[in-house]
Amino acid sequence: MTTRSTESPGSGDFRPRAEAVIDLDAISANVAALRGHVGGRDVMAVVKADGYGHGIVESARAARSGGASWLGVAFLDEALQLRAAGDTGPILSWLAVPGERYDEGITAGVELSAYSSAQLLEIASAANRVGERAAVQLKLDSGLGRGGARPDEWTKLTAAAAKGQVDGDIEVTGVWSHLARSDEPGHPSITDQTAAFEAGVDEARAAGLEPRHVHLANSGAVLAAPQTWFTLVRPGIAIYGVTPFADGSSPVPLKAAMTLRAALALVKRVGAGLGVSYGHTYVTDRETTVALVPVGYGDGVPRHASSRGPVLLNGRRHRVAGRVCMDQFVVDIGDDEARAGDDVVLFGEAARGEPTAVDWAQAADTIGYEIVSRIGARVPRRYVGEGAR
Ligand SMILES: *Cc1c(COP(=O)(O)O)cnc(C)c1O
Repeated sequence: MTTRSTESPGSGDFRPRAEAVIDLDAISANVAALRGHVGGRDVMAVVKADGYGHGIVESARAARSGGASWLGVAFLDEALQLRAAGDTGPILSWLAVPGERYDEGITAGVELSAYSSAQLLEIASAANRVGERAAVQLKLDSGLGRGGARPDEWTKLTAAAAKGQVDGDIEVTGVWSHLARSDEPGHPSITDQTAAFEAGVDEARAAGLEPRHVHLANSGAVLAAPQTWFTLVRPGIAIYGVTPFADGSSPVPLKAAMTLRAALALVKRVGAGLGVSYGHTYVTDRETTVALVPVGYGDGVPRHASSRGPVLLNGRRHRVAGRVCMDQFVVDIGDDEARAGDDVVLFGEAARGEPTAVDWAQAADTIGYEIVSRIGARVPRRYVGEGAR
């Protein structure tokens, strides 16, 4: 069950055992800052995967109000969810399997991506069935080695698209690609992929296509690779205030949109030599105080961060002691004071002294993207900021 509230919870001083507080103003401000950074180019805010865990509809609204003219999603279902919520602006959807409900996407005015000539034909025949032109953006594999057409297929794809335009079933509105290593600023593959992409754009134009939207840059490249900006940029993680860079740096100041907090369930004094949590991988080395935090991997807190993940409790940093369990973990707070009910922040805004999603990523050998987007539906979201009203 996902609980979504736009007000502080209920009566009295009830506080949920845990919640993800989503600052919609931070999302708007991050979009505005990124748009300024790219000289006012079009920004496509990427809101796939439930807005990286922040809520797709709420994040999309906040991104629009920060100046995102486009929204980007992986799957058509996500685009249709935005339409059902009342979004009427440009949306690009980019990953599909044969048999996708293209008819619905076309009728809903969602722009579609084609990775191959076979996929383009499937989209064109859906357009023909519903009697509308499908707006299609062609995807080149410029070197990521994942989705999109490699150069030999690109020749077929652009030719099929040119024919589809003449037949009146499709309109090619854009050409795009995706980077492999934009989180490593200055990496030579960025230059190589940019050149391969430009060659692909030239080939599309030579085939008679006139793409208005030419785009390559995700967050890492938006932040640090101006040669990739073309007409539009596609930031995802940065709009949520999480840097894609492993060292936690960002050349554009970003505000963390998600704060994951909980209330302590129990605080107790224990002796030296007590094994803590499953497997007793942590043993107290002195008399100490332990605090029980009621969130776990069932909420998306990574078990890989066992004995490493940081928390902020009463102004002090502490670490997870022992294993992260499904519903809970323990923190050893030494001789610090704490009481059941005290607020504990797992991650949030560095400027408030809180650990960040990137700190948790380092603790769990992963990336900040996975930390925020995995916070599960069992954790209620509470929306704050202008966009929440
Ligand atoms: C997810 C995604 C993005 C956004 O990437 P970030 O690194 O989060 O900015 C952009 N483009 C495509 C194709 C994606 O799949």
